[in-house]
Amino acid sequence: MENLRSLLSDSRFPIYLHYNLLKKILTSRRTKKHKVKELAVSLTFDIEKDPINNKIKPIGNFLHKMNKLLKSKNIETTLFIQANLINDFSTQFKNLQKTHELGLHGYAHELWGYEQWWDSKKSLDLKQKRKLISISLDIFEENDLERPTSFRAPNLVINKETLSLIKNYDFKIDSSLPSYLGVKPLPKFYDSLLMIPHTANPIPKFQLKYHIIPLVYYDRFTFPSVLSMSKNEFLDFVEIVASYQISFGFKPHLVFFAHSWEFVEHDTKKIKCSEDNYKSLLNICSLLENNYEVEYVSLNNLAKKLELFD
Ligand SMILES: [Zn+2]
Repeated sequence: MENLRSLLSDSRFPIYLHYNLLKKILTSRRTKKHKVKELAVSLTFDIEKDPINNKIKPIGNFLHKMNKLLKSKNIETTLFIQANLINDFSTQFKNLQKTHELGLHGYAHELWGYEQWWDSKKSLDLKQKRKLISISLDIFEENDLERPTSFRAPNLVINKETLSLIKNYDFKIDSSLPSYLGVKPLPKFYDSLLMIPHTANPIPKFQLKYHIIPLVYYDRFTFPSVLSMSKNEFLDFVEIVASYQISFGFKPHLVFFAHSWEFVEHDTKKIKCSEDNYKSLLNICSLLENNYEVEYVSLNNLAKKLELFD
């Protein structure tokens, strides 16, 4: 039943065509170019088991390489960690927390929202959620890691029950909204919990599947999206997002979203996973730095910069 509901409410499908056409017109009006000078950028990485080969060793390599890379550029990020991996990389995480924000990405990549049409995973019930949050927080503590205050649900699937729960466990930020469905690139509050989505272009784009079925998609600040853009297309994307944010009174900001396994060489057609992505990330950063005054901040510091936290 939940699967069917998720299928019917997926606004990328043709039954929502009129809604999406109207959305395109209305959103475009909000993205008339503003002059953008300063840009806050949050790089966020989900640290999790590789879904392709299920190995954990590459995670250690990723943490080591990424730390070295970011150190050279003085960049702080937010790492959302699958809690059952912490014991294996305890020393590395302890070192990383000196510079980076460590957030929580579930215990073992469970489903923290409703069941989805594209996934066979079953939802956690409230009792299971409580137990897993509490175990996860214990693991942070046992490994001398600061208690996390930012949360990202695995697969970007979350519901109000989970939002209320993490708020009660003193989380301050959630970054789980499914931007691939066209979430506005704006922060908003759910009670006292601040929701900062990873960045998507607010204007829907249309593509024809099998030459006849019109489907909607959104460009996002992710490798699959950005690596398929030219430099000018990417800078256009940034200008649209920034102008849209300014029109709502927010300082321009971007939230990048990638996974640890996207930096591991894989022969998959679905997503381009490659060690080249370290270089690609640096190129993306350089392109931004050449065009804006960029400040790299963790999500927690982004919330402060946007004056949404005291
Ligand atoms: Zn994940």
